[in-house]
Amino acid sequence: MSSPLTFQPVLDRIAAEIEQTPGRGRPADYIPALAACDPRSFGMAVAELDGTVYGVGDWRQPFSTQSITKVFTLALDLAHEADELWEHVGREPSGNPFNSLVQLEYENGIPRNPFINAGALVVTDRLHTQTGDAAGTLLDFLRAESGNEHLAINEDVAASESAHGDRNAALGHFMASYGNIGNPVPALLDAYFRQCSVEASCADLALATGFLARHGIRADGSRLLTMSQAKEVNAVMLTCGTYDAAGEFAYRVGLPGKSGVGGGIIAVVPGRCTVCVWSPGLDGHGNSVAGVAALDRFTTITGLSVF
Ligand code: GLU
Repeated sequence: MSSPLTFQPVLDRIAAEIEQTPGRGRPADYIPALAACDPRSFGMAVAELDGTVYGVGDWRQPFSTQSITKVFTLALDLAHEADELWEHVGREPSGNPFNSLVQLEYENGIPRNPFINAGALVVTDRLHTQTGDAAGTLLDFLRAESGNEHLAINEDVAASESAHGDRNAALGHFMASYGNIGNPVPALLDAYFRQCSVEASCADLALATGFLARHGIRADGSRLLTMSQAKEVNAVMLTCGTYDAAGEFAYRVGLPGKSGVGGGIIAVVPGRCTVCVWSPGLDGHGNSVAGVAALDRFTTITGLSVF
């Protein structure tokens, strides 16, 4: 694939194939706002390194970003405190569901990786300490990178997350008992639930992920991460980014990726482009059924994978 112009027919072809595919999975139903999504929705966008974006279907429709935001809070915290973060969170796949408590006791309150909920809570806690406002820092970053000033937190979703947030509260308190949480747990949970409730489209997220394809360089040309740190984030996405199905995702798609229960997935082709796909129907692991299928087709058709 030498010309960027060839992305549009690729996306059109994938969307046509997905349209014919029966079985889209079921939207997340742990909060009403997500359960109401139409599983037939489908959007996909590719952003080139220079910010040129191609899209198909519902690629401009905002959706609930949820765990996709864990990539950005990880990057922002690494930019602030570098390797100090890795004293407080590991980087190994967990093999357990995203909200699992079981491994924490054996590992002294240090979560296995930054993308399970326990690890994401640690990252958000540390970013909150560094910046005074983790969710606001995240939102500012996403707005700047996407060029979309209108990106916002859906406060109804945040309230609903909070109302159904007992498991995350348990994780927060449990890690606090090991001294691995610095902020009062209620303040941390508020920041985390607001972070999960940012709404953005495939176009916004493909652009906002661009720094990982540009080896750490932001849209304005400034550096967020060192080359090594960008590699680290991509590596953790590859090994831990799609819940306990990261092996299957690497096998089928072959790219660093991060999914969220809103049905979005971001993926990075280092040095080339980023992709974001959204379709709210999930499989049993919490990954978008049509989203994984579309990324599988993308790397198969273009040959753009890290393998
Ligand atoms: N708000 C969800 C939670 O923390 C995020 C889940 C996800 O996207 O993995 O439980």
